[in-house]
Amino acid sequence: MPRRYHIETFGCQMNVHDSERLAALLEADGYERAEGPEGADLVVLNTCAVREKAEEKVFSRIGELRAPGMGPTLVAVAGCLAQQAGAGIFARTRGVDIVVGTRAARRLPLLAEEARRSGRRQADVSRGEVSPFPPRLVRRSDPVKAYVTVIEGCNEACAFCVVPRTRGGERMRPVGEILAEAADALQSGRTEIHLLGQIVNRYRAPDDPACDFAELLARVDRLPGLRRIRFASPHPRHVSERLIEAMSALPRVCRHLHLPVQSGSNRVLAAMRRRHTREDYLALVAELRARVPGLHLSTDVIVGFPGEAEADFQDTLSLVEAVGYHSIFSFKYSERPGTLAAAGLRDDVPDAEKARRLATLQARQGAIQSMLLGAAVGTTVEVLVEGTSRRRVTEMTGRTSGNTVVNFPGDPAWVGAIVPVTIERAGPHSLWGRVEALTAESRTPTL
Ligand code: SF4
Repeated sequence: MPRRYHIETFGCQMNVHDSERLAALLEADGYERAEGPEGADLVVLNTCAVREKAEEKVFSRIGELRAPGMGPTLVAVAGCLAQQAGAGIFARTRGVDIVVGTRAARRLPLLAEEARRSGRRQADVSRGEVSPFPPRLVRRSDPVKAYVTVIEGCNEACAFCVVPRTRGGERMRPVGEILAEAADALQSGRTEIHLLGQIVNRYRAPDDPACDFAELLARVDRLPGLRRIRFASPHPRHVSERLIEAMSALPRVCRHLHLPVQSGSNRVLAAMRRRHTREDYLALVAELRARVPGLHLSTDVIVGFPGEAEADFQDTLSLVEAVGYHSIFSFKYSERPGTLAAAGLRDDVPDAEKARRLATLQARQGAIQSMLLGAAVGTTVEVLVEGTSRRRVTEMTGRTSGNTVVNFPGDPAWVGAIVPVTIERAGPHSLWGRVEALTAESRTPTL
């Protein structure tokens, strides 16, 4: 009987895509996908180490998986937490059989085989050479959007971030490989390509010096079958004139940019080693808004970074108001082992104060978001249909080019098509509307 695997993903889009590649590797090795952990021979937890909370979730999930009756034969921890904590995970729990770091992920089938054969725990978290996933080997989990990695690793040194340590320095993929993978995804019926990189806009093709990130967007934009391109995440200090021009000129590049700011205070930005100032960031936002009409912005914010005083936090609030983000991901600072902040800065903002700042920020953002979403009522927007709504089977869900979720009565046959939706109602995080009539632009792809 074939062995069966199940993968659970924590963290960012990069991890979601790594899970798709791990799934393909396991299937190439003869595994079949299980519907859930029950009855799977191998359960893989593909983890995140960016925040303490994500780490806690992984350990509590391991406990659940080892509860009586669950019984996967092997449990593997992969991803950033595995790379960072290494065999230390074995010391913390008896529930794990395999630890495989981001740099050796493609060795997972071999490690599983060895663990099964020897009955001994296996770990590979080498800090040496990265062993990349085989190109074009991916089991895509979404019928509409396809993630394509363009850069792995990061050369920045943000003080709070563990990624340069877990994923290593920047490595660019050849442009030919990226375009081939995107073309495969489009041929299989996907219509939206998400280009991924820790700092995606640093891209420069190793096999074609003329191809920077703006040129890569232009080449992807020309691929047949494509409806939309998104990318994540750019670093504000690497947004070039050429990138702004490409965003404004290329019709299929979405009118949404996730532009991490982290703080609105120059003092905190310097302590975070972000290498941009509040003024640089606001000037960039003004330039983007002037050149890319209809652009929606989202961001990441950390509150309670070491040394953050009330005045610094007020700077963050005023920046969030000045920009008018459509959404933000906001977090309380938590010290992560192996980061520059953990080594050199005292985590001196009390947890209750961090919680107060987070609640204040989220309330302020909630009001901004309600105002922006409310302004969409009565307009007609183009929505790429992603699937059936989780709440109601009669309702479809999709996103605008600006990345706002829209729900509307519809037909599952529309998945993958762009439909015009007239907005009737706004909620705190999404919109509701109805499709008046399908336009000639709308089409129903075979998925
Ligand atoms: S840019 Fe900063 S936050 Fe982003 S991955 Fe690199 S070090 Fe981490």
